[in-house]
Amino acid sequence: MQVTVIGTGYVGLVTAIGLADAKHDVVCVDLNKERMEQLAQGIAPITEEGIEEALQKNQSRLTFTTEYPLSDLYLVAVGTPERADGSCDLSAVQAVVKLIHSIQPDAAVVLKSTIPPGTTESLQEMYPSLRFAMVPEFLREGTAIRDMRNPHRVIIGTHDQGLAESLADLFKTNAPIVHVDPTTAELTKYAANSFLAVKISFINEIARLADIVGADVEDVAHGIGLDPRIGPAFLKAGAGYGGSCFPKDIAALTTLAQRQGEHLHVIEAADRTNEAQLEYVLQKIDPRPGLRIALLGLSFKPGTDDLRDAPALRLAERLTKMGVIVTGYDPAAKTLLDQKKTIEEAVAGAEVAVIMTEWDDIKHVTPQQLTANMKTARLIDGRNCWAFVDEPGDVQYEGIGRPGKT
Ligand code: NAD
Repeated sequence: MQVTVIGTGYVGLVTAIGLADAKHDVVCVDLNKERMEQLAQGIAPITEEGIEEALQKNQSRLTFTTEYPLSDLYLVAVGTPERADGSCDLSAVQAVVKLIHSIQPDAAVVLKSTIPPGTTESLQEMYPSLRFAMVPEFLREGTAIRDMRNPHRVIIGTHDQGLAESLADLFKTNAPIVHVDPTTAELTKYAANSFLAVKISFINEIARLADIVGADVEDVAHGIGLDPRIGPAFLKAGAGYGGSCFPKDIAALTTLAQRQGEHLHVIEAADRTNEAQLEYVLQKIDPRPGLRIALLGLSFKPGTDDLRDAPALRLAERLTKMGVIVTGYDPAAKTLLDQKKTIEEAVAGAEVAVIMTEWDDIKHVTPQQLTANMKTARLIDGRNCWAFVDEPGDVQYEGIGRPGKT
């Protein structure tokens, strides 16, 4: 089948590769000309494990262009960022659908972008000749290629039975396929992200209490995670979540609910706790003008160069405003910070190092590397990930909710 994917960011590009893997010919369309030229040469514009190999393997089935081709099936994976008022900015999705309609008014349009409940139904009303489906994306940056090849489920939201069957075939998988209406598919995506954010904020609150009462949150998380009703995933205490999805999706969902006179108390609280968690790390740092700090890890999670809403950048901004001198290190992400090429360079002369992203090399920075290079070897572990926590040598260590390890 010839498929067109519009938007070649994390979701669009990985989806296109997945379809090419399954022997479909895929035309990828993006406004970003430079990105299309790079991709045509097999150069991945994002850091993702295995992406360059997958691109090169599928080069003969992938075409990259800025022009919309005629196609039977268009997959839409453009961005849906947060507006200043917290709501979801649908302008890119709307522009793309309008263009598709002008080229091929009876095409099938599959929305992969995260869009608020009700969006697909209103687009269907506006363009009755197009055939819509909403198929939310659940890949995780850092393991996107793996997730695309082994999804936990595929949710297909459409009223069009024929399209539902074609999509079940297109996204062929051993995972469960769940057929629902478009609004349910839309809400499923937001509910999934909100639930994960709630889990993180939950364990972060327990971590703050653990610091007060003298318990170890890592052991608490292990203990509760063994209960299959709770499960071990997303119970890692730390500096809080960020990234291109959780903050904006939570804002979009809570804003939508509020406009309907409904309050999503638990989800709103998860967001407030997340804000407070960064303040908590700030308190642990005890900043003062002139203090030298090294931030280890800048991307919002390991395995990606994505800096959108990264907690490390929010922390850097707060610290810089307080007159703190901040250096940074990240193996993939590029920022405007005073960023060094190695961990040693970043911590040289620093009085505090703060782990903000649990990249492998950062987890394994040795006590010797820290004591040799820092002015005072103080390490605040904003991800509770340091490999030498039980043998810290002369390093003054502090995690989140692990007072026994201080
Ligand atoms: P992204 O910003 O990485 O990519 C979006 C791409 O769309 C960009 O390359 C941009 O140039 C292109 N684009 C924008 N407007 C366009 C237009 N009119 N025509 C053609 N191309 C256009 O975004 P992303 O992270 O891939 O996210 C895309 C959607 O998927 C969002 O709704 C997001 O919430 C959702 N999502 C993202 C993830 C993730 O981990 N990144 C996971 C699940 C769902």
